[in-house]
Amino acid sequence: MEDFTPELIDRLTRYCAIDSQSDADSPTAPSTAIQLDMQRLLAAELTAMGAQDVTLTDYGTVLATIPGNRPGPVVGFLAHVDTAPQFNATNVRPRVIKGYNGGAITFPDDPALSLTPEDFPYLAEKRGHDLIMASGLTLLGADDKAGVAILMTAARHLLANPDLPRPGLRLAFTPDEEIGRGVDSRLPRDLGADFAYTFDGGKVGEIEYETFSADGALVTIKGVSIHPGYATGKLVNAIHLAARIIQTLPQATLTPETTADREGFIHATDMNGGASEMRIKFILRDFERDGLAAKGALLQQVCAAVAATEPRAEITCTITPQYRNMRYWLESDMTPVDLAREAARSLGIEPLSVPIRGGTDGSRLTEMGVPCPNLFTGMQNIHGPLEWISAQDMQAALGLCLAIADRAATRS
Ligand SMILES: [Zn+2]
Repeated sequence: MEDFTPELIDRLTRYCAIDSQSDADSPTAPSTAIQLDMQRLLAAELTAMGAQDVTLTDYGTVLATIPGNRPGPVVGFLAHVDTAPQFNATNVRPRVIKGYNGGAITFPDDPALSLTPEDFPYLAEKRGHDLIMASGLTLLGADDKAGVAILMTAARHLLANPDLPRPGLRLAFTPDEEIGRGVDSRLPRDLGADFAYTFDGGKVGEIEYETFSADGALVTIKGVSIHPGYATGKLVNAIHLAARIIQTLPQATLTPETTADREGFIHATDMNGGASEMRIKFILRDFERDGLAAKGALLQQVCAAVAATEPRAEITCTITPQYRNMRYWLESDMTPVDLAREAARSLGIEPLSVPIRGGTDGSRLTEMGVPCPNLFTGMQNIHGPLEWISAQDMQAALGLCLAIADRAATRS
């Protein structure tokens, strides 16, 4: 395969330098206007390279068509343009280390940081590769600008070589994936794909089709508020009741830090308020529907038990569905997974399918009728200052994208 690494590095470093962080506390869609800076750039680049139907939807997604030249399913390729709100993403200064020597990598803007193959064994496999990372003060944003760079390079290549076999292909660049709001209800229809892939995974070989099933929970505790000087026998302090709920929930089991692999958890993410009213937010996760329901039931039982100790308080627990394990839909038709696995093997890449302890845009999309596994890009140590990626890993992901397009056209 042609060496696409110069283009991939150019695109990744340009895209990472653009701040497009999302914000979970914003009520708007997209959550931040800066994401539209990325979207307008992508729309202009897609138009310039000859893509068709280039649109920036009013929910902030960029869509485009690469026309097909063979029959076959319409295949969608997705990546998200937002970066994670968990770490500084302003003034990202991407750096390229050509021909990595296998040693420790230091960071010019934070001398205390170091990225070593001892701490990150995957790095040890990348000797001789060209690596990209930030300067120490920010994340890099390869999650998911790597996916964006891979798909933009694939689009440019396919449009420049109209004879390469491909069915109709659709591209979607979504905002707000990191805050769980990447898939608008109109996206499945607007995408118009029979199935799709997100390029939002890590290690070379990852072809993921199992995610958590996820609910959110909000517990509200209303106490009785009275001037403390006149409170005898009357005041009910919501803070004490909130503390009792947290104390009663499992702590040595069923938390993110005490579970692994296929175990789910109840995770308190946020608590705020005061003596008169407290709010606690939770996320509930499990790979199976009944396991998820059991976690919701446990939380409700704990709230009811604490409520029973203080009838003057009002405690409510509201559980809201977030996304579901995509395996439920994919296992009845594994075509997209099989196609990606065949394409990977054709490139000499051994497919690797591990359940994701999280969700992707594909979880929602699959549930909404567009089966959508997640594919590797190479991104590592995401959401923090040690984030890095190998250009040669991105090249492998690009190869996978092109091989999927080719096989989708030639196998039908
Ligand atoms: Zn991502």
